[in-house]
Amino acid sequence: MIIFDNVSKKYNNDYIALEKVSFAVNPNEFVSIVGPSGAGKTTLLRMLLAEDKPTEGKVFLHDTDIHTLSSKDINFVRRKIGAVFQDFRLLPNKNVYENIAFAMEAAGRSDEEIESDVPHVLELVDLTPKIWNFPRELSGGEKQRVAIARAIVNQPDIIIADEPTGNLDPVNTYDIVQIFKKINDLGTTVILTTHNKGVIDSIGRRVITMQDGKIIRDDKTGKYIL
Ligand code: ADP
Repeated sequence: MIIFDNVSKKYNNDYIALEKVSFAVNPNEFVSIVGPSGAGKTTLLRMLLAEDKPTEGKVFLHDTDIHTLSSKDINFVRRKIGAVFQDFRLLPNKNVYENIAFAMEAAGRSDEEIESDVPHVLELVDLTPKIWNFPRELSGGEKQRVAIARAIVNQPDIIIADEPTGNLDPVNTYDIVQIFKKINDLGTTVILTTHNKGVIDSIGRRVITMQDGKIIRDDKTGKYIL
């Protein structure tokens, strides 16, 4: 369970990026966050990843106010969250296997677990034939599938995806949305931001609409209205 309780974020220049944002996400929900550029979507995800602190308000993850934790405990919380970004963020000098293995090593997983789990997650994102390729040898859609495999390999409770289809063509966008739906069906909470009306319509789940740092709509089954 995720709870944002009256969260506001002001940047140094006094710009209000989030203003009294409150909402809750239940386990295994699929929530899309939409809104124009500058609405505060990325800032909201950064508060959840504890990359930055709110100016006011609280963010709870499984009953813990994550912004009161020590940096060591925050790392523990971050392991419960897998993140996917528009620009993929793969390590260019590592092949697909090594990119995913690296995330498992960082989480302290054993060599045996790595050898068995990396092929398993690649199968889940339908990318087994590319296991030994390097990022430069992959299409945008394939790179994003590696990034998703890496995000889920440590079995997080939550996947956060910030504009994951922003650099993809419509066919790859559709495939990536299907993968997120599959991950959600397997029991993981998914929170994604998007500008893409087609993405929202094909997910058909809860949509939170933001504007000027505020939530202006929260619809149970998705419509993209702006
Ligand atoms: P979105 O993801 O919806 O496009 P953001 O959360 O990235 O919106 O940004 C919300 C607002 O906060 C924007 O106007 C942006 O310029 C501002 N902002 C974001 N990050 C910073 C920062 N580090 N310093 C100052 N202003 C920022």
